[in-house]
Amino acid sequence: MRYLILGASAAGLSAAGAIRQNDPWGDITVLSGDRHIYSRCLLPDVLAGRRDAAAARFVPEDFMRRNGVRWAGGVKAVKLLPEEKGVAADNGDKFFYDKLLIATGSSSYLPPVENINRGRQVYGLRNLEDVWDITRAAGSCRQAVIMGGGLVGVDAAVSLNEKGLAVVIVEIAGHILPLQLDQRAAASYEALFRNRGIEIITGEIMSRIILDDRQNVTGVQLKSGRVIPCGLLVAATGVRPNVDFLEGTPVEVGRGIKVNEYEETSYPDIYAAGDVCESLEVFTGKVAPTPIWPLAVLQGQVAGTNMAGGRRKMVNNFAFKNSMEFYGLNTVSFGFPEAPDTSYTTYIMESPGSYKKYIFKDGCLRGAILQGDIARAGVTGALIRKNTPVGVAPGKLFDLNYAYFFNQRENGEFVL
Ligand SMILES: Cc1cc2nc3c(=O)[nH]c(=O)nc-3n(C[C@H](O)[C@H](O)[C@H](O)COP(=O)(O)OP(=O)(O)OC[C@H]3O[C@@H](n4cnc5c(N)ncnc54)[C@H](O)[C@@H]3O)c2cc1C
Repeated sequence: MRYLILGASAAGLSAAGAIRQNDPWGDITVLSGDRHIYSRCLLPDVLAGRRDAAAARFVPEDFMRRNGVRWAGGVKAVKLLPEEKGVAADNGDKFFYDKLLIATGSSSYLPPVENINRGRQVYGLRNLEDVWDITRAAGSCRQAVIMGGGLVGVDAAVSLNEKGLAVVIVEIAGHILPLQLDQRAAASYEALFRNRGIEIITGEIMSRIILDDRQNVTGVQLKSGRVIPCGLLVAATGVRPNVDFLEGTPVEVGRGIKVNEYEETSYPDIYAAGDVCESLEVFTGKVAPTPIWPLAVLQGQVAGTNMAGGRRKMVNNFAFKNSMEFYGLNTVSFGFPEAPDTSYTTYIMESPGSYKKYIFKDGCLRGAILQGDIARAGVTGALIRKNTPVGVAPGKLFDLNYAYFFNQRENGEFVL
C-alpha cells in the first residue's frame, strides 16, 4: 500500500505514526513545504530567543527513520491529479498513492490594507522562515506594529518586546484576545503589557502602510488618521487553508476541506486533517475550521488509522478551549467568553489575583474563564465539552471539583 501525506506538522506526522502502527510494511511518503520539523506553537519562543529552532521539534530526531517514512522537505504539491491518483510537485516530480492525506495546514491571511503586499517588512507569523525574516528586520528597527491582538498577535508582541523593541498592537475589537477572553480578563493582560512598554490600541483599523521609495515600511496609518512610525509590521489577522492545489478537482472545499467523522474527504481514498479542514465541532454543533494543535494531532491519528484499514471516528472535536500565560498570569477559557444573549446567566467571582466567570444556559455550563487561579480548569472544560447538565448551587460553582460528581441522576445530570 502506498501512502502519500502532504504536510509534516501536527496532523501529517501524527497520521504517519498511526499508519505505521497499523501497517508495518506500507510505503509512506511525506511531502512538505517545511524544510524543518517544528511546532508552530513554539515559534514565539524561537522569535523571542527563548529556544532555538532545533528545540521546537515535536517528534524525536529519528522519527522518520524509525517509522520508515520517506520525507521530501521543501517540496510542495502544486496540483492534485485524482484520476491518476497522483500529485504534481513544485520540483517537477509526480508522486502516486493508494491513500492520500492532505494535511497542508493554513497560511497567514493578509487583509486588504493599502500597500500590504508591497511593503518589504510585512510578515505573518506562521513558519520558521517568518521568524527568521522578522528577526532580521527587528535588528534594524526600533518599533514594530502588530496588526491583530489575538493569540498569535499577542505572542508576537511579547516576543518582540523581549527582543528590546517598542511594540504597538492595533486591534479592531474593543479589547485584545476577543475570541478567548471578556473585557475584564483581557484588561489584566493589557495592564501587564502596558507596564512593559507594549502599547495597545483597540477599536481601530489600519488603513495604510507607509513605505519609502524602496518599499521599506516606515509606519502605518490608522483610520482615525493617527500615524505610528515603525520599521516592521506583523500581520496576525487570521489564516486561510492551503488548498490552492485542489482547484478544479472534485475535492469539496468550504472554509476548509470538507471531511466526515472518519476524516474522509468527498473523494475516494483522499483524507484530510488539521487546520486545512472544516469539520463538525462539538461545542457549537456546527461545521467549522478547528485550528488548534491538539485537534490537528487527533484528526491526523484518526485519518492515519483509517487510511491503514481501520474504522476510527473523530470524537471530542472540541475547539473552544484556550490556555495562556503572559508575564506570569495564567488564564484558561472554554466555550463562550461572553453570554451571547439574555437567555444565559453569568456568575462572576473576583478576589485579589483571581477572576472566575461561568456562563450557564438551561442548566449547562456554556462558557468559563479562570484567570489567576486555574485549579479547576480540567473539570470545567469537561463539563462544557460534554454539555453536561449541572444541578448548580451557585455558591459551590467556584469550587468545582471532580469529587462533587458522584451524584449523577438518571438523565445524566450531576447534582452539586
Ligand atoms: C505562532 C503560532 C502559535 C500557536 N500557538 C498555539 C497554541 O498555543 N495552542 C494551539 O493549540 N495551537 C496553536 N497554534 C496553532 C497550531 O500551530 C496549528 O493548529 C497546527 O500547527 C496545525 O497543524 P497542521 O498539521 O494542521 O498544519 P500546519 O502546522 O500548518 O502544517 C502544515 C504543513 O503542510 C505543509 N504544506 C503546506 N502547503 C503544502 C503543499 N502545497 N504541499 C506540501 N506541503 C504543504 C507545511 O509546510 C507544513 O509542513 C499556533 C499557531 C501559530 C502560527
